Amino acid sequence: PQPTHPLAIQAKDLTLSYPGRGQVLAPLSFTLNQGELLLLTGRTGSGKSSLLHLIAGFMQPTSGQLLVKGKNPGSEPLIWMHQQAFIINASWAENLRLAAPNASEAAMLRAIDAVGLTPLLAQQKDGLNTLLLERGKSLSGGQAQRLALARALLTPSKLVLLDEPTASLDAISRQQIYATLKQLKEQGCTLIIASHEPELIALADQQIQLASGATHAST
Ligand code: ATP
Ligand code: MG
Repeated sequence: PQPTHPLAIQAKDLTLSYPGRGQVLAPLSFTLNQGELLLLTGRTGSGKSSLLHLIAGFMQPTSGQLLVKGKNPGSEPLIWMHQQAFIINASWAENLRLAAPNASEAAMLRAIDAVGLTPLLAQQKDGLNTLLLERGKSLSGGQAQRLALARALLTPSKLVLLDEPTASLDAISRQQIYATLKQLKEQGCTLIIASHEPELIALADQQIQLASGATHAST
């Protein structure tokens, strides 16, 4: 196996401007070690999702430097749980296997359990073969989010990006997700989470508060 780079993320003087919108990220510099949890906070529109897009290699910064495990963003496999959960018109199993085609049934059931969806699955007449409709049609927003997190748990990756993973969940479901995130961290995953949830601060090694015009990093 390839030696892993000790630094998960190196960002130096990163800026991002959208045409017509002006600068979203003020020059931002930070480093994140492997296995650490970075919490991104800041008001709506402050650039949290945009920063995740940069780290995923889905967009290029306007200026500055960004390395993911010492390489250009996009060259390392990662899990990216979007703000809008991605659910396709297919069975539970097919939705779970989108990023992990070889996941066994037992592994899928474990992942479903880790996100607290076992009771809901038990109500489905064909179990994992029950068909789902796109988001909003057969799952609530929070259920769709948790299914997307279960999919992420099935995909072997050491870098996990989560965009508001608990935004539409009740307190009990949120606790379940925090426990799962903690577990991922204990397994050595690097996690970058955009969230407003104060409970996540306890899990975070580093917090960056994004703001228009000014960016504050704290550890
Ligand atoms: P939220 O908490 O609402 O999810 P956020 O912190 O994730 O917000 P972003 O989605 O990164 O914020 O957006 C940052 C700013 O960039 C916003 O002002 C938004 O309008 C703008 N923006 C985002 N995507 C685009 C785009 N594709 N084109 C132009 N402007 C964009
Ligand atoms: Mg966002």
